[in-house]
Amino acid sequence: MGGLKKVIEKEKWQKVAEEMNYPKGSQVERKLDQVYVKYLLPYDTLTNDERQAILESVGKEWDKRYKRMLRRAQNPLHKQRQLLGESSSDDDEEDEDMELALEEADDCIVTGRGMNLATFEKVARNVMQMQLGTSAESADEIERRYWRLVSAGDEHVCVNAAAVDTADQAPPQKPKPSARHPWNLKMLSTCAESALRSLGPVLSVTVPTLHLGMLYSSSCWHRDPHGLPWTEFLHQGPDKIWYGIPDSQSDQFRRAVEALCPAFCQNKSIWLPSDVTMIPPDLLVKEKLTLTRATQRAGDFIIVFPKAYSCSICTGYTISESVYYAPFSWLETVSNDFEEARRSHEPTMFSVEQLLLGAVEERGAPQPARRAAALALAAALRRELHARRALHQLPSKDSKHPPKRRWSAWNVRELDECDVCRCTLYLSKVTGLVDKKGVFCLEHAMRVLSKFQGEDVSQAALVCFYSNDTLHTILAKLDKRFSS
Ligand SMILES: [Zn+2]
Repeated sequence: MGGLKKVIEKEKWQKVAEEMNYPKGSQVERKLDQVYVKYLLPYDTLTNDERQAILESVGKEWDKRYKRMLRRAQNPLHKQRQLLGESSSDDDEEDEDMELALEEADDCIVTGRGMNLATFEKVARNVMQMQLGTSAESADEIERRYWRLVSAGDEHVCVNAAAVDTADQAPPQKPKPSARHPWNLKMLSTCAESALRSLGPVLSVTVPTLHLGMLYSSSCWHRDPHGLPWTEFLHQGPDKIWYGIPDSQSDQFRRAVEALCPAFCQNKSIWLPSDVTMIPPDLLVKEKLTLTRATQRAGDFIIVFPKAYSCSICTGYTISESVYYAPFSWLETVSNDFEEARRSHEPTMFSVEQLLLGAVEERGAPQPARRAAALALAAALRRELHARRALHQLPSKDSKHPPKRRWSAWNVRELDECDVCRCTLYLSKVTGLVDKKGVFCLEHAMRVLSKFQGEDVSQAALVCFYSNDTLHTILAKLDKRFSS
């Protein structure tokens, strides 16, 4: 519009705001002026050579960053190996590089500012106006725009999303009839046919999560690391677009991601970090993958099958709710799934020991499932007792889990996780190792102790949430009940 001087003289900031689809407001002209002066004016006053030099240095920085991400993808467990004293690198610069890569990889999802529902809705309206102007577009057209943005990757679009734990509220005094309906997600996860019922209320697992989304809010390609199916119900809002890839095509999907975006494909068994990778469907189809596409309308349930990969995109302000559940047959493979998560150093949303302790008491479960749970539990308890004996040099003390607040559900975040494998420390933990502040599972505590002989262990302790006697009693009961 003729440059800063003209815009100021002829009072054109309002016009600039309109051109950029900014929502109307008294502050917008002042803000645009401030932003221009702060960021664009210094660039405007540079010579061509100076601008070129800046572009080159930005290009170099991006290059370096991408190489860092690639190195991290090849060696995703670098930090854990260092903790265990097994890192092959003694290069400080390399370590620093890797730290940076870890931070940068999580950059695309950041914690936003706290806001109430009315503000969220207002932000959603503004985003819609800025992105689409005043034209009303179909979900298909919005989806095309979305994939164009993803493919081109030359525009920075930032939107909000929120996940709300539904257990944080007191139960209503007079529940509505729908409160007891079997398809109410609070009922679904705790019905007699779900193997998760014995877990009791666990945040984000058996207690549903409410999701708020706006235009372009996305759930990137991911799959549940516990091997669980889950369902999402769309309460209100415009259509949500879903894509799915079945477990049978997992290997092919991994090869496709390796080819298309190698920096996001990590060299471990659970290889796809959640919430970072979005790939347009046509590129995946070219890699010979068979995708499922679904348009979810308000009132529809989407069911994601165990180990299926999925992603979804909101086309406007939406409120949905999701929850996990499990058929009893899942208990027959659950130990493998948790072992895979442990080997990949992926955090889980609950402890497998907590699940199994409940599942063996679940009278309604079919015999094969209860037997599988009992075998898995007995093996876990024997491993635990064995490890405790091996750590006899550490002082040990019995302790209790943190108390639950009223109405609140069990929350995995209130328990410690192992600094190495990130498993939830439910039966016991070792504290006070590695600079006196590390927290480890027993297996990794043993490995730390064997690697760093002579380490100062004056502050270390084995903390048992279940005493040895209790574990022996449970084992004897299991042996008696399932020995046949
Ligand atoms: Zn561990």
